[in-house]
Amino acid sequence: MSQITKVINEQKARELLNIVLPAAVSRALKTLLETKHLYQRVDVQVEKEAADAISRYALLHQTMTMELFGRWVAFGREPIKKEEANTVYFLLPTVRTYCSECGREQPFNPVGNMLTAPDFDSGFGLPTQERLKKYFSPGVVRVDVYVLTYECQGCKGIPQVFLVRREGTKLTLSGRTPIEHVEVPRVIPQTGKEFYSGALVAYQSGQHLAGLFMLRTCIEQVARNAVEGSETIVNGDELLKRYMEGLPEAAKGHFPSMRATYGTISTAIHAANPELAPFEDIRKDIDSHFEGVDVHKRAAARTRPQAGQAQAT
Ligand SMILES: [Zn+2]
Repeated sequence: MSQITKVINEQKARELLNIVLPAAVSRALKTLLETKHLYQRVDVQVEKEAADAISRYALLHQTMTMELFGRWVAFGREPIKKEEANTVYFLLPTVRTYCSECGREQPFNPVGNMLTAPDFDSGFGLPTQERLKKYFSPGVVRVDVYVLTYECQGCKGIPQVFLVRREGTKLTLSGRTPIEHVEVPRVIPQTGKEFYSGALVAYQSGQHLAGLFMLRTCIEQVARNAVEGSETIVNGDELLKRYMEGLPEAAKGHFPSMRATYGTISTAIHAANPELAPFEDIRKDIDSHFEGVDVHKRAAARTRPQAGQAQAT
């Protein structure tokens, strides 16, 4: 390779570096905010092609590594000075998320620039050299925390705020306000909806056992509401037995028994072993049960004679 070709290629690789790293961080952040739940995370992936091109130049590769593990500075619509070395300046992406004002998913724009809280870059008062040693020593990962404010493009209402923690090349969704919107199936009875929704939030945040507990509460509350005189029944199993007995005979056997599901959840909770009651399976059983009950109720309503007609005959 001639000297001049090498210089040109190095320059190209360097330009690539300035585009590739920030784009990779923005992309990962978009995936995180749009598709992940609380305490879930994504890894920043540099496209293989670009990474290969850069890695051909040992020096640039080192730079890329330094930058990947150096400070990442977010910016929104207002331009900022990009003057620090070993720093990735990444653009805050537009993200699609649920807006409670608009009642649907909407595009959200970043408002202002990020807040980093607290200022991790001050290195907790360490002198620069020690700080660098601390951040770049083998096995030590760089930590940044971002508070990101986003505004709905539709209603421009109260912004949503995300708390994102960065460790090395990983981004974790550590908090958000308002709480993530979860869709509760229409067939879940009103008395159970709140607990069903709480169960989803708990499960999606990695609290499987707590999620099961709330699904169990959802079943209990629906049963309590359906069974006459249920306030005198203290045993959950007895309550569910009475609930199942109260369902129309013709409908039984067409959908999962809530008594069996309730029993499975209880076993898992008492054993403190969520694996005994896989959340998604349990949730599917609950959904199918109430779908079945709903179908039956609607069919019964269609075949039942109208009150007026009944009186006339
Ligand atoms: Zn909105």
